[in-house]
Amino acid sequence: MTSGEHTRAVHTPDPPRLEQTPLGLPVHRSAAFRFSSAQEYADVLSGAQKGYSYSRVDNPTTDAFAQAVAALEGVGVDGDVVAQPFASGMAAISTVLMALTHAGAHVVVPREVYGGTYGLLTTVLDRFGVTTSFVDMTDLDEVRAAIRPETTVLYAETLANPTMTVADLPGLSAISRQAGLTFVVDSTFASPAVCRPLEHGADVVVHSATKYIGGHSDSTGGVAVGSPELMARVRHDRIDLGGMLAPDEAFLLHRGLATLPLRVARHCASALVVAAAMEEHPGVLRVDHPGLPSHRDHDLARKLFDEGRYGAIVTITPPGGRAAGLALCDRLQLIAVATSLAGTHSQVSHVATTTHRQLDDAALAAAGIDLAAVRISVGLEDPEDLVADLEQALDGL
Ligand SMILES: *Cc1c(COP(=O)(O)O)cnc(C)c1O
Repeated sequence: MTSGEHTRAVHTPDPPRLEQTPLGLPVHRSAAFRFSSAQEYADVLSGAQKGYSYSRVDNPTTDAFAQAVAALEGVGVDGDVVAQPFASGMAAISTVLMALTHAGAHVVVPREVYGGTYGLLTTVLDRFGVTTSFVDMTDLDEVRAAIRPETTVLYAETLANPTMTVADLPGLSAISRQAGLTFVVDSTFASPAVCRPLEHGADVVVHSATKYIGGHSDSTGGVAVGSPELMARVRHDRIDLGGMLAPDEAFLLHRGLATLPLRVARHCASALVVAAAMEEHPGVLRVDHPGLPSHRDHDLARKLFDEGRYGAIVTITPPGGRAAGLALCDRLQLIAVATSLAGTHSQVSHVATTTHRQLDDAALAAAGIDLAAVRISVGLEDPEDLVADLEQALDGL
């Protein structure tokens, strides 16, 4: 059968079927997949046959990324660990929370929870009848007391922003189990190269892969990790909510994973150098970093985290309130005033006017956050250069 020019232009020969496995991850940009028969189409959609149909539902590149994260998070866990990919950390968090709640349900969340998650709970999920108690997660009695008959989720963050409070994962897990809840942990600030919460009793781990997993500030994504049963529920809701990861982003995030332990080990080692130098500096009132023996959660961090790795966020408080915090940011020459964290470049945020701007001065004080506090995400530069930059900035305040 001969065909016309336009038909030949559209119906190109099939790409070669590969006999060997590519070492680099192929990017399957196709939105749709062709079947060998109408029956196969029906069987893939119904789940009777494994396969790909539509890239909002599943995609080979995003699957490869998610399963690579599952392999890193799932060590030391009995039973299978699988993962679901998402377009962002918030897509992962919102989908997981929707999958685990219903109208009338209640969740227990740390009061210093990530701003996006706070907004989701207080301005979105509350409209659908989900209520939230914000508690001091370091007080296990307060956590226990907040649980109600309608509670379905206990939610924690491995490392909380900006005080670097460490979640007592085994303690919280025991409370969650006893109450029959699902224990969800946002482990973005740690990454699986510092701590793997499933090993310590979490049921679901969520990440903003935009941060350490991607690691280069050039891609946005999220991931949820847990048992096949829980992830089947999460996938069901992901498909209808539509927050699927794009294949190109999955490629970048998957590439980031190859160097995650190398990068994170260096980020963490440099953060310790910066934190120790800042603790010695007379122009600094307070340094929050769990690698410092002076941090209230240092012993817990030693127990739960890989040796010598305490994350790479260092929060520094100079005297002088809001104006001093802003001035310190502006005086930095190497460390960039920038949103987000966990990239190759060191970044700084003035906490009271950025990540915690929703909190008024009284709420900041209650959360133990000084108006001058600045959060530094320690990058991959030479730590001596970062210390020198901070010293020149502090000396001029
Ligand atoms: C950035 C971040 C998120 C949200 O992730 P996005 O990829 O920006 O949607 C959630 N939790 C924590 C702790 C984060 O730092």
